[in-house]
Amino acid sequence: MEQKDLVLDKILQTIPAASPILVILDKDGVLDPFVENPEKAFVPELTRDAVNRLAGAPDTDVAIVSGRSVEQLKTLAGNLNVTYIGLHGNEKYDNQTRKYQRQPDPEIAEKIILLGKNLKKILAEKKLGNKGVILEVKNCAAAIHWRKAPELEQAVTDIFLKALSDQNLLADGKLSLQAGSMFLELKPNLYNKGSAAAELIRSKNYNHIVCIGDDQTDLSMMEAVKESGKPHTIVIVDSRINFPGAFRLDSPEEVKTLLSLLAAKRKTN
Ligand SMILES: [Mg+2]
Repeated sequence: MEQKDLVLDKILQTIPAASPILVILDKDGVLDPFVENPEKAFVPELTRDAVNRLAGAPDTDVAIVSGRSVEQLKTLAGNLNVTYIGLHGNEKYDNQTRKYQRQPDPEIAEKIILLGKNLKKILAEKKLGNKGVILEVKNCAAAIHWRKAPELEQAVTDIFLKALSDQNLLADGKLSLQAGSMFLELKPNLYNKGSAAAELIRSKNYNHIVCIGDDQTDLSMMEAVKESGKPHTIVIVDSRINFPGAFRLDSPEEVKTLLSLLAAKRKTN
């Protein structure tokens, strides 16, 4: 058996075949690989099939917890039978009933629209869009990416911070700034991935929690899983973060295989 198969097998052995489980998945870097343009980060068709097969297995709930907005998740991940938790927990949408269970403050939405307009104007004036800087305005959050233009990090950071300060956006504590891998993001503050994961875990009497993530913001979910005291399986994709006791997979391709195998295991028992 290959090394990779051994790891997948070990992971599968930790997850029960029949009792109620919750599977918490990050999207970017977990279900789909890194791409230069964040708006093109689509979940591949075969991975979508695997997620839907898993979500359709008995006593198996699946949630995608992401920094993306629910709107983006619906576009990029498609019509999955899962709960979409967007904006680091600040949005919650049941894609089976097609209903929002949580949306951020509309006042925040207005402020972000204005921020988006201001930033768009500045980026156009300085021709930074042409140089590879990407502004991502989501429902109630905004991010600026320089992954295609790493040399512009300082300039882009300065522009973003000045725009936040001009609108006084960090003053009331409702929004907070988060640094990611080659991007800065302004997001609502009420929830984070950890509190969103804790809420999901509390929502039913699950006997096992599976959590798969790949970056810094996913550590709070992993912590919430551990703190729940429930039996759990934590998987890290790629190698930028560490979490005690976590298994490691190398790529979203391997996650797809794991989800397929888990779907089969849950269905036949
Ligand atoms: Mg990720």
